[in-house]
Amino acid sequence: MRIAIIGGGIAGLAAAFELEKARGTGTEVEYALFEARERLGGSLASETVDGAMLERGPDSFLTEKPAAAELCRELGLGDELIPSNDIARKTYVVVHNRLVALPDGLMFLVPTKLLPTALTPLFSLSTKARMAMELLHPPSNNRHVDESVAALVERHYGAEAVDRLADPLLSGIYGGDAAQLSARTVLPRLVEMENKYGSLTRGMLAAHRQMRARASGTAAGSGRRAPRALFTALRGGMQQLVDAITAQLDPAGVHVSTPVSAIEKDSDGWRVEAGGFIGIYDALIVASPAWAAGVLLRPVDPALAEELGAIPYSSSITVNLIYDEKELGALPEGFGFLVPPSEGRSMLACTFVHRKFLGRTPPGKAVFRAFLGGMKNEALLSETDAALVAIVRRELREILGEKIMGRAGEPEHTQVSRWQQAMAQYAVGHKQRIERINARVAALPGLRLVGNAYDGIGVPDCIRLGRQAARELAALPAKVPSAPQMR
Ligand SMILES: Cc1cc2nc3c(=O)[nH]c(=O)nc-3n(C[C@H](O)[C@H](O)[C@H](O)COP(=O)(O)OP(=O)(O)OC[C@H]3O[C@@H](n4cnc5c(N)ncnc54)[C@H](O)[C@@H]3O)c2cc1C
Repeated sequence: MRIAIIGGGIAGLAAAFELEKARGTGTEVEYALFEARERLGGSLASETVDGAMLERGPDSFLTEKPAAAELCRELGLGDELIPSNDIARKTYVVVHNRLVALPDGLMFLVPTKLLPTALTPLFSLSTKARMAMELLHPPSNNRHVDESVAALVERHYGAEAVDRLADPLLSGIYGGDAAQLSARTVLPRLVEMENKYGSLTRGMLAAHRQMRARASGTAAGSGRRAPRALFTALRGGMQQLVDAITAQLDPAGVHVSTPVSAIEKDSDGWRVEAGGFIGIYDALIVASPAWAAGVLLRPVDPALAEELGAIPYSSSITVNLIYDEKELGALPEGFGFLVPPSEGRSMLACTFVHRKFLGRTPPGKAVFRAFLGGMKNEALLSETDAALVAIVRRELREILGEKIMGRAGEPEHTQVSRWQQAMAQYAVGHKQRIERINARVAALPGLRLVGNAYDGIGVPDCIRLGRQAARELAALPAKVPSAPQMR
């Protein structure tokens, strides 16, 4: 069985790793991974500067999704996994240039604690009253109709909750727009809760009670409590994962700076044109962004290409700034802040990196990681690095104030990374689109589509999909004779 993998981001790398494992256990499988850029890893890229670990793309993964940590352990990186510093976890939202802490008890946009919600300056009195009344929300029977996250949140908690919670959280995490993202895909648990309980707050409280009962059962059974950090990272950055996978792969099967320029399907299998050669393969894992997959698959199935091309993507920029802490005033405790689009700023979010993961920044240094761009501000991508750094410095000064930033001179180091059309957006109707895509893919034997456009945007989901596709294909009977046919 010969398999081509198009795209060497984490999804394609995870697929290649799985195929390499299959080879190691005697499965007759060969693979060729084609990556357009000169380096592997896609959005995963980190760099250590003067002892400070700077992430250009993702900085961590959600601990509750096990696929990434599992892969790290398989690769011998178990001891390199570090938890987020959750004791200090506190996130702020910028409201009229002031940092307002997200109230305690907020779970997936749902307020669950009465007192902190009543006391927070984040919401007006009328929104607080609406949050209390939400407990009486009747169950919904539109379980088959999709709507935007903004529409769902507004129906339950009002427009201010969209502006101060849903918008900043979704743009700060997905570079997304709450008015476009699908509630059924992005927040499926909330949609289920609405169907069952009516009130999201009552639904979340019930889920929390069940979770606590399960946890205390497990704790009683095992005799220990196991609090888990929300995020897990690698001490040496995401690049460690990319390097560890690459070290396992057969170098003869990995082709960087080799964009795939055409795909055809005929009775021999899949013809893949890359770097001036055509190879014939029994199966194909397309791990490029969906828009690139659409372009390549147009000659094979125009309707599939149309669906892939219609999945929206957002672009983003990360700007890392290293400062000497002596030049800064006392930062508020916590991991950083989110900026609602209504504040009219370029920054969508900023992480206090030295607070979120301990031991990755030298003592006495502070690292700010600003996140810019998103669906509403693509134009920023064409700004120069110097202009982007200037924007971030100005906005940090305006948001954190003179007390903190007033004495800060030039940062000791700046790093700007642009991620063009890198983050898929699960827009309203995404689930149905994926069902249509899956139906078309099922009619094309040997084809698998993996990556962040389909069933989860985060690193663990991309790893899960990549490995699953590879396992399925490695189990199929081979058709093409094992020697590659190039012409
Ligand atoms: C700034 C940023 C921060 C993020 N933060 C987090 C986070 O903290 N936690 C988290 O879990 N997730 C995060 N994400 C999301 C996560 O990083 C991505 O969803 C994930 O890495 C996508 O992996 P992928 O393999 O699907 O795609 P990509 O990483 O985009 O890789 C696709 C690859 O395909 C290649 N390619 C395209 N066309 C061709 C072609 N024709 N031929 C050959 N190769 C081709 C591209 O060059 C690219 O390398 C973040 C993303 C970004 C951009």
